[in-house]
Amino acid sequence: MRCPFCNHSDTSVKDSRTTDDQSAIRRRRVCGECGSRFTTFERIQLRELMVIKKNGERAPFDREKLLRSVSSAMHKHSIDPEKIERVISSTIRQLETSGETEIPTCLIGDMVLQSLFNLDLVAYVRFASIYKEFSNAQDFIDLISRMEKQSDNETFSFEESLEIIHHKLHSNTP
Ligand SMILES: [Zn+2]
Repeated sequence: MRCPFCNHSDTSVKDSRTTDDQSAIRRRRVCGECGSRFTTFERIQLRELMVIKKNGERAPFDREKLLRSVSSAMHKHSIDPEKIERVISSTIRQLETSGETEIPTCLIGDMVLQSLFNLDLVAYVRFASIYKEFSNAQDFIDLISRMEKQSDNETFSFEESLEIIHHKLHSNTP
């Protein structure tokens, strides 16, 4: 493995362990030339995935890009990074076993939304408001947090309200 800092090919593995969900092996590496340290992940890849963008362009599926977009949606919301990793991993596993090799980006987004819905409702709302490009994302989040507070008084169920919003979002998917 080439050093990403100085491009030297002589790097060695210092430490190797499986991630908590056991879906990957994490290796700490060090460059013999410049001494830089970096981390690599080894994961099972069942098939090469391509994505079809909104404009019809095709591109290789980029795991890191998906991880970045989900993580940035979780900005300022304390959600365990390993949980996000699991959402991404399970989404990719579903895609790889679906038999399709070309997948529309909107479908990937919907699958991530579905996983977040089961994992963390606030994370779900945040990602939904960004991914579904609500013009009034903050209003939407404010509404949900107001609903969350009111649901403590049991005037109505927060989960029920979200369930309704969730189905609305999915029925609007082209
Ligand atoms: Zn180096």
